[in-house]
Amino acid sequence: MKRFEAELTPVREPGGIGRMHVRLTLFGADARAGDELARIRRRTVGVPGAEPLGTAVSDELGALPFVLKEWEEYPVCYLGVYAGRAARGPVVIEYDVAAGSRPDHGRHGPYFEWAAESGGVSGPGFAFLMAPAGFSGALSLVWHRERLEEGDRCVCTWGEGNLALDGPAELLTDCYYMLGPVRSVTEGEFGLYWLTEPDFDAQSLAAFTRDLFARMQAFFLDDRQVYRVFMREDHTETSGGTALRRSYMFGWNRRRQVSQVKRQILLAHEMVHNWPHLNDEPYGVTTWYSEGTAEYYSLLLPLRAGLISREQALRELQERTDAYYTNPTRHLSNMEAARAAWEDRRAQRLSYGRGLFYLAGADRRIRRASGGRVSLDDVVRALILKDRQGVTLGNQVYLDTVRGLCGLDETEALHAMCEGKDFAPDADSLDALFTVTPYDTAEQDTGKPAVSYRWGLRRER
Ligand SMILES: [Zn+2]
Repeated sequence: MKRFEAELTPVREPGGIGRMHVRLTLFGADARAGDELARIRRRTVGVPGAEPLGTAVSDELGALPFVLKEWEEYPVCYLGVYAGRAARGPVVIEYDVAAGSRPDHGRHGPYFEWAAESGGVSGPGFAFLMAPAGFSGALSLVWHRERLEEGDRCVCTWGEGNLALDGPAELLTDCYYMLGPVRSVTEGEFGLYWLTEPDFDAQSLAAFTRDLFARMQAFFLDDRQVYRVFMREDHTETSGGTALRRSYMFGWNRRRQVSQVKRQILLAHEMVHNWPHLNDEPYGVTTWYSEGTAEYYSLLLPLRAGLISREQALRELQERTDAYYTNPTRHLSNMEAARAAWEDRRAQRLSYGRGLFYLAGADRRIRRASGGRVSLDDVVRALILKDRQGVTLGNQVYLDTVRGLCGLDETEALHAMCEGKDFAPDADSLDALFTVTPYDTAEQDTGKPAVSYRWGLRRER
């Protein structure tokens, strides 16, 4: 019987939870000399995780000699623990991690650090947790609270306190954790959690997020309950969000204030990431789809639900349009953009605008081809169902699904978008709520002439 158990002992120190002892037990590992026992991500898209300190490995025979090896699988750098001899019985790996802070170097990476904040710590599991590669089976998460104080809480995406799950080890690594004096708004298995009191109304944001989650869940044909949102203060010059399984981290910023609507749409974007995606290997090949659907539905679903107004959606749409059509890197192909993404913020943003305007156009073409019978919504839902049936989704499956539902061949339009060719937004896209006209403007940074598009509200409807 295969089982993977993670025992975590966070240690409260005078300044907060600085350190945590990690003890992992691999039952039924059957490792031979030279086998990889477990691995941890050292860096993900350039963002460092916590360093495992004082690593020790043992089994029934006592100390188990091991070798550490580091390697790169872009965009992740791994550190692996390899057995120095054949293991007997359960293998135990122990180490300590220390919480860092989100580095204030002006670089806009995703929220992947194991970061200290207001006496607690938060971050993704893969920032501190080693796990056996390819493991699937019984998982347990055990919190040892003896070094914590009364009010300290231990929360992760799957719930608060000790947990037993069944599935891949990624359930424990690809989710968010938050420990310490955590505050929250919860309802059943939905919750919003934070350590630093934000400078906006967290209660109303929680209510918006909960309502939107219920609608999105129905829209994306999902009946599972768990969904948790974590918030942290971001000290860089930005706010943002990063989605993992059934959860995301929302970063807010004191120095650069954003409106509540912007915050809501950002939260909506991260939430959409829970559902539509295609297999993104090699990295960047389908990012247009995950970011494009997140952009498309974070505007349209709150709008259709009446959670934001058409005027508010229009302002957001205009910003996205100008951001894409004046981006000096907009002629990079998707794969070139992926390679440059974490060095050049502008290239990283390409998949958002490109995906949004391509999908909006595809929706229009799909409706036209099917006489209004089929829309992009049906394609996205059909892909979600295929994913559940175990189909590996990629660009070709997307094209086949469109063709299967309405006979339309999107190959040429998709390739043009993937290669960074110019294409204009479609006036009748986006539920035909808006008008659009081209206008002359200048590229960001370079000032070179560029053509962007101005949206207006359609009056006749
Ligand atoms: Zn996104």
